[in-house]
Amino acid sequence: MSGKSHFDVLIVGGGNAGISAAGRLMRQGVKDVAVIEPQKVHTYRPLLPYVGAGEAPLRSAERTQRSVTPRGCTWLEDTVVAVDARLREVRCASGLVYTYDDLVLGTGLVPDTAALPGVYDALATSSVASNYLDRAEKTWASVQSLHDGGKAVFTVPRPPVSCTGTTIKPLFLAADHWKRHGRKMDITLVVDRREILGVPDLDSLLFDELSEWGVRVLRGTAVSELHPGEQAITVTAADGGTERLDYDFLHLVPPYRGHTWVEESGLATAHGLVDIDPHTLQHKIFANIWALGDGAAVETDPSGGGLRKQASVMVSNLLAVRSGGQTTNYEGYTVAPIAVGRHTLVLGEYDRSGAVMSSLPSFMDALKPRRWAWAFDRFVLPVVYWRLILKGLA
Ligand SMILES: Cc1cc2nc3c(=O)[nH]c(=O)nc-3n(C[C@H](O)[C@H](O)[C@H](O)COP(=O)(O)OP(=O)(O)OC[C@H]3O[C@@H](n4cnc5c(N)ncnc54)[C@H](O)[C@@H]3O)c2cc1C
Repeated sequence: MSGKSHFDVLIVGGGNAGISAAGRLMRQGVKDVAVIEPQKVHTYRPLLPYVGAGEAPLRSAERTQRSVTPRGCTWLEDTVVAVDARLREVRCASGLVYTYDDLVLGTGLVPDTAALPGVYDALATSSVASNYLDRAEKTWASVQSLHDGGKAVFTVPRPPVSCTGTTIKPLFLAADHWKRHGRKMDITLVVDRREILGVPDLDSLLFDELSEWGVRVLRGTAVSELHPGEQAITVTAADGGTERLDYDFLHLVPPYRGHTWVEESGLATAHGLVDIDPHTLQHKIFANIWALGDGAAVETDPSGGGLRKQASVMVSNLLAVRSGGQTTNYEGYTVAPIAVGRHTLVLGEYDRSGAVMSSLPSFMDALKPRRWAWAFDRFVLPVVYWRLILKGLA
């Protein structure tokens, strides 16, 4: 407990967005920064698909929140329940109220349980798991125990979701595991959109890979009901037609939304996302409110890779507005690092318009699955995350 109630920059959410923004702000000389975050453990989510495939232990994806909070930054262990933007006040579950000069929202997404009721009841059953809902170890246990000829169903929800490409990583990793163990499964992927990423070259690569793995893909189809007691789901196609799918294993990625208190505080747009200008990351109505990460309306697929650019633009713009300088734009860079087999991965970089981008030398094909890209994603990026990104150095 700091005893202070006013901060120069107050950040809500101590995930990738909040901590990397705090690190950058402090490096730029902003001294009075606080992060409100209720969780004691910080998770590097991009490692979770590897936990779900038995390729990494869960503990390697976790650090204490205290250890990732930048030195000199105040950690307020609390949960925000409301923002009064006109009074520049943030109210917390503890009853404490904080005021700010600038507010940064990095509170991510929550499952949209109104759009799909029963998510947590389904997760409580033995045949449903999700890397997206803190059940990556259960994913791995389920993948290992699925019997030959079993029915496996994987889901991709409508936007917004954190890093769309990663929603199908568990399918490819599981399919590879089953093949290596001589088990032939009946695999279905339910995709609640016509395309997966909306990037033609990447989508055709993914659909080709799915076809090679013998996966039945239901496009433009939403999971509309869960029947965990009967190990079944109902899916609804765009034309309204329904189908019931039985499963022995369901990897469920539910529909998501922003927090309702963001909406109730008058700060949100569709699906409860913070209503910012997607280029400057500044709130459209309240000039001293900023947002980045999964819970912000960045108008591109949210991802950790995209967040690096967002944190840099957001901090530079916050300081530019203070000093009367020139703001810069976030062009919507994002990534979909998809392992299409156990040890091969496509980096999948693209922008807001759906154009493929590449940080590779121009002579290298950006759409080719590569072994070194998998090794980079699995072993190098976690080190970069803990040592550089969270400290505002990359
Ligand atoms: C399984 C999985 C795999 C992924 N793989 C990749 C990948 O390979 N590459 C990639 O680039 N990206 C990947 N991503 C996406 C990437 O991890 C996210 O884009 C990133 O973590 C988003 O960070 P965030 O801080 O916006 O949200 P979060 O990580 O969700 O953090 C939000 C924080 O806000 C806190 N919070 C929420 N409500 C409140 C409140 N009321 N008051 C205070 N604090 C609050 C939460 O406790 C949380 O700590 C993956 C995501 C998942 C889920």
